[in-house]
Amino acid sequence: MPGAGLIAPHAVPVGRFAPSPSGPLHFGSIVAAVGSCLSARHGGGRWLLRIEDVDAPRTVAGAADGILRTLERLGFEWDGPVLRQSGRTAAYRDAFERLRAGGSIFGCACTRREMADSALARDGTRRYPGTCRDGLPPGRVARAWRLRVAPGVVGFDDGVQGRVEEDVAADVGDFVLLRADGLFAYQLAVVVDDAAAGVTEVVRGADLLDSTARQIVLQRLLGYPTPAYAHLPVASNAAGEKLSKQTLARAVDGAEPARVLVDALDFLGQGPPAGLADGGTTAVWTWARANWSMARVPRRRAVPAPRYG
Ligand code: GLU
Repeated sequence: MPGAGLIAPHAVPVGRFAPSPSGPLHFGSIVAAVGSCLSARHGGGRWLLRIEDVDAPRTVAGAADGILRTLERLGFEWDGPVLRQSGRTAAYRDAFERLRAGGSIFGCACTRREMADSALARDGTRRYPGTCRDGLPPGRVARAWRLRVAPGVVGFDDGVQGRVEEDVAADVGDFVLLRADGLFAYQLAVVVDDAAAGVTEVVRGADLLDSTARQIVLQRLLGYPTPAYAHLPVASNAAGEKLSKQTLARAVDGAEPARVLVDALDFLGQGPPAGLADGGTTAVWTWARANWSMARVPRRRAVPAPRYG
């Protein structure tokens, strides 16, 4: 049944932007910030900001503060305090223990090298072959802890990409929730944080489309509602690569703030009128809040943004 498992539309939408502080914001991140903010605000809702620093080794000192400054300069206004995942370990542990008590978690001894022959999942990670699922091989100890994924297709109706279905057990296999380095995995952190904050809509880049089914699996096991999802096209450079630190994408700080916002609106198919940037960020936000339409966002996973590549 289309839409099964989605929560009923809320009177007040709650959206969020959840950047990882691994470097300065580039144009692709601004697109996700603009889209998530306008979707929530256009519906009269709240928009939250969460710094996703759960992956401590990837966190760059000072990057979180830089992100907040960039967002302020662009005239973003978020509701409530900024949440940082680094302060949320107890909540992740609670959820993890709940899953473990329900028999959904098992210890895994496999090293990356031992899994190197395993097939690739859609997102480029290795599909877990199930080696430790029914118990650790003799003499081995658990390094990481995985979720036992039941077979079956998980589907959702994406606000931009349409119907999306994935068989998580077949495509990804039992995935890691507590990593060998003792950190909780992104998939668990996102699900726990979105539920705790009452997030009703997740608007983010299509690079995360392949994570969504895993997150829905976790929501169901933890008894959380499933938010509505909309995955925006990802900004790529002229070579078709997703803008990132690795592709040396320009930080947006060098550009004029109203211009960056208008470029993001244009990228998202909103058709901002000529000259809109001349009125500064306030004028851009006023126009954008009144005119936002998710239906106009291009249904593609990647769109070039050469100016910011
Ligand atoms: N922290 C993730 C990123 O920066 C986004 C996670 C999400 O929006 O769910 O790519």
